[in-house]
Amino acid sequence: MADEYPEVPVFPNVIEMVRELGLDMRDWVNAESAPFLRRRFYDQTEQRVVYYPEHILGSLSFACPNGHAVSPSWLDKRPPAQPFRSREGKLWRLGTAGIMCPVCGTNFDIELPNISPWLGEVLLYGDEAFRDIDTGHDRPRHCVTYSLVSRPVNEEDDCRLNEQFIGLKKKHFGRADKIHCKELFHARIGEGPTPEQASAFIGEVADLIASFKDKIVVLNSTSVTYKPTQFKKREIEACKSQVFGTLILMAIEGLTKQGRSPRFFFERTDADGWAKNLFTGGRLTLMWPFITHGLPIRSPEFVLPTHSMYLEFADIVSFAVADNIRNRAMEREGKAAPPGPRLDLERLGLVQYQGYTENGDAISRTCVGYPWDTFFAGTPWA
Ligand SMILES: [Zn+2]
Repeated sequence: MADEYPEVPVFPNVIEMVRELGLDMRDWVNAESAPFLRRRFYDQTEQRVVYYPEHILGSLSFACPNGHAVSPSWLDKRPPAQPFRSREGKLWRLGTAGIMCPVCGTNFDIELPNISPWLGEVLLYGDEAFRDIDTGHDRPRHCVTYSLVSRPVNEEDDCRLNEQFIGLKKKHFGRADKIHCKELFHARIGEGPTPEQASAFIGEVADLIASFKDKIVVLNSTSVTYKPTQFKKREIEACKSQVFGTLILMAIEGLTKQGRSPRFFFERTDADGWAKNLFTGGRLTLMWPFITHGLPIRSPEFVLPTHSMYLEFADIVSFAVADNIRNRAMEREGKAAPPGPRLDLERLGLVQYQGYTENGDAISRTCVGYPWDTFFAGTPWA
């Protein structure tokens, strides 16, 4: 135990440590880790996460005492290696984890990547969009996209962005109500803004987001797949869980590497099983301490669309990416794209885009404008 928790007095087990250090179990860091101290909870929690970021973990291997190179089983269920926090605000973290060499059967310890200092949390807001793509040239396809927009850590920046966004709404629509793209983009004739008015507004929101680019991050993940003949709740869920899950893992990995823990807010829907599994099952893997760099991550919060303007930004990004992909598919395959507002994605500035190779591996590019040539190489969409 002394080796497992460096600098901590020797405790025979984690439960002992929790008691001896008098940890405050209402502290969210401890509250996230505590349920797993109960054997029953651990036993009953299923680990159903089926993917890990291959481009980050795939190249890691560890030498066993007999010199064999071991690639750990990143997704096997195992007791979690999550941090606890002392009353003084100090993180207690596992220093090592045991794995077994599949060649010689030797158990040995590997070092866990514990980043410090911990700079606290950054808030991220997520929203989704879907499009059916039927160009008549190919089998019908389905596009799933998910975006995350962060809130500036600095309160002054947060207020300034908020005021400017309200200013844009008032300028274009004369009111500051919550904007939902679905209504904005698909308003019936004579009922909402014209496509030109909506385009002008979305464009200026994109400029606003771009002008805060050193204060906030924008991430997007998109998957386009052939629509299976059977495409009901279960198929849709599987598709979503891959796109959303890989994006969330990418956000966790990228931010914790810089010492920040992402705190996620998602719009409340009845289809959030993927997220719950990612954040409970995922914690019971060796992937988790590596992806989180030993920092605590709060379980996601499911909120109403009105909860924050950052959900509106995420909605706009997802809507614009999905429309751009559908429209490009139509145009490149000789069909007219449906009428509607347009956004040139370059106006969003730097975005971390994620796409998928044909075998399902996630690839990511941080760039201005959509990386068509990378994500759709060899297709008419590139
Ligand atoms: Zn070995």
